[in-house]
Amino acid sequence: MTVTLDRNVENFIGIPRQLFINGQWTDAASGKTFETPNPATGETLARIAEGDAEDIDRAVRAARAAFDGPWSRMTPSERGRIIWRIGDLILEHADELAQLESLDNGKPYGVAQAADVPLAADLFHYMAGWATKIEGSTISISVPYMPGVNFHSYTLREPLGVVGQIIPWNFPLLMAAWKLGPALATGNCVVLKPAEQTPLTALRLAELIAAAGMPDGVVNVVPGFGETAGAALAAHNDVDKVAFTGSTEVGKLIVAASGASNLKKLTLELGGKSPNIVFDDADDSAIEGAANAIFFNHGQCCVAGSRLFVQQGRYDEVVDGVAEIAKSIKMGPGMEPGTQMGPLVSEEQFRRVTGYLESGKSDGATALAGGGRHGDRGYFVEPTVLTGTRPDMKVVREEIFGPVLVASPFTDLDEIAGIANDSQYGLGAGIWTRDISKAHALAKKLRAGTVWINCYNVFDAALPFGGYKQSGWGREMGHQALEAYTEVKAVTTQL
Ligand code: ADP
Repeated sequence: MTVTLDRNVENFIGIPRQLFINGQWTDAASGKTFETPNPATGETLARIAEGDAEDIDRAVRAARAAFDGPWSRMTPSERGRIIWRIGDLILEHADELAQLESLDNGKPYGVAQAADVPLAADLFHYMAGWATKIEGSTISISVPYMPGVNFHSYTLREPLGVVGQIIPWNFPLLMAAWKLGPALATGNCVVLKPAEQTPLTALRLAELIAAAGMPDGVVNVVPGFGETAGAALAAHNDVDKVAFTGSTEVGKLIVAASGASNLKKLTLELGGKSPNIVFDDADDSAIEGAANAIFFNHGQCCVAGSRLFVQQGRYDEVVDGVAEIAKSIKMGPGMEPGTQMGPLVSEEQFRRVTGYLESGKSDGATALAGGGRHGDRGYFVEPTVLTGTRPDMKVVREEIFGPVLVASPFTDLDEIAGIANDSQYGLGAGIWTRDISKAHALAKKLRAGTVWINCYNVFDAALPFGGYKQSGWGREMGHQALEAYTEVKAVTTQL
């Protein structure tokens, strides 16, 4: 049994989807298309126009014209109202968007409905309010070589112009929202390239954005592959900034492309291998919390709590408890009621994650739960808990981006910060203890952009999110995101 498909969803995937450029639906200049499969079955879900460099260039020109024209002429209040309406329309179409997300990405429909869709709407609502609150400041200056001369100085915060946004497949709609919200609130125009694995909700969002009254060309959505469409955006000389979420490996390519072209500004939200630390005095809810930290979204979260450290006295109890939860998770297609974990997003990802499981086993790790494929159809991987690992193993050092937890014991507070920080990444971290001063002391020592105490995977549009070290540059969400979408201009007048 599966959830009955919304009529709009059937219609949407029933015909080949085109690129959205300058407010129009258009084929790729090359005429090429690609398929997006349903990861629960491996069968074709929909056919999509495949944008490449020529289409990206068309979209950038449309975005530039909108930036030089209607979008910049609108008042902040008018812009804010359109952004707010986008949030409203997402909520009005919540079931439909959740179904599309589930079909394309594989995540349970109920999860998309409870988390992805409302969080996306909330992001637009939150950012809509900022459109009228972008301010500069006045500054008193004293110029030593111009004694006795008075000045009036102030700063302006201005949009960057045309922004390229390249997003991943793990939260397709939500990542589009995280990117579009602050860019639009600060008055920029956008060319968005969704991940080739999951283009559907971004394309449906483009329709809703147009319905919200957005002028043509302000938001352009060009699906295509990373090496062609994505690379063209990163290398384009008329793109003022690229905001990227994806792997650290591709993040470095984007940095190189910026350096080799027009030195466009960058924000990067990259990989992670986040530590989740459970102390002896933790509440029992830490066990479920640790399971949720890694298994939410099938471990396909850049911030997944993939390294579990449990203090010696509770190690067996906590790790056995997480393994029991792993074994009880109901796997199935995202659209089947009762499914708690769906398939991984793609065959490539399936091979990657099962490859890590093999490497863990051959390095001598033990699978306390899971350890392999689930079923023989689609891209399902069992929720897995690995123990008996060493710090130098690939499964401990590298980001797996799947439902695979490595667990190890620790003895005291003094050593755990060093162990937790022993990673090239620094995105998230979790701490579970009843001793709140211990928690805050450790939170300070952890080199991570987000620290959760007695909770995990708590997101809000008002909380800045981003990484230390090789987990990225800059912050998304919160008012910090606005800074990364504006230039500051200092204006000085001699009085
Ligand atoms: P993953 O390996 O998890 O798929 P990626 O970092 O490869 O993550 O992909 C994230 C996004 O980056 C996707 O939209 C993808 O198309 C894009 N991408 C991949 N390679 C490149 C590239 N060389 N230049 C620009 N974008 C790319």
